[in-house]
Amino acid sequence: MIACRLRRRRCGLLLVGVLAAGCAPGRRLTVAPDALVDLRALDPSIRVEMPYATPHNFTGVALYPVARCLLRRDVAERLVRVERRLAGEGLGLLVWDCYRPFPVQQRLWALVPDARYVAEPVVRDGRPVAGSKHNRGAAVDLTLVDAAGRPLEMPTGFDDFSEHAHRGWAGASPAARRNLARLEEAMASEGFEPLPTEWWHFDGPGWERYELLDRPLTE
Ligand SMILES: [Zn+2]
Repeated sequence: MIACRLRRRRCGLLLVGVLAAGCAPGRRLTVAPDALVDLRALDPSIRVEMPYATPHNFTGVALYPVARCLLRRDVAERLVRVERRLAGEGLGLLVWDCYRPFPVQQRLWALVPDARYVAEPVVRDGRPVAGSKHNRGAAVDLTLVDAAGRPLEMPTGFDDFSEHAHRGWAGASPAARRNLARLEEAMASEGFEPLPTEWWHFDGPGWERYELLDRPLTE
């Protein structure tokens, strides 16, 4: 949601991307820190290729209607700063997953009921009470690319649900370990926390203050 503020009062709540409607022309717009924003609207140079928007993921079916990276504003802005820092080294990010609607989490859990790799979605009294940090718009899956957009070698591909994807897996090549260390260092510089069992997954700082969401990815 985009919150429009005028004299410290909200004048309307709008959908992502609809910046003008609902607010008088010329008024100053402020996007609330907990709003979901489109990452590529903040920085079109960030590469976004979402396997869950295609059949080329571990489920074999497209789970998302669009390849769109939505994140809480604060998380997205941190990621933009990571991208800019990496650009100075001739590197960039390739984003694989961002906000994930709660119903998709339920589908994933039905396919992979293993809490090491998929957070269990829990519903109580008709409301989601536990799930993935992706359902909060506060987690991101990504890797590193070179200046030409080619992915750097990493310990495994995306969604490798094995110990090979664990951070510190001793079987990774020296180049993969070095590349992963660069990614972890870049993400840590903006406060992102790495998930021990999936080298590609990072949680945004303060994720616990964002609620679980079921809104569709297309809104
Ligand atoms: Zn993830």
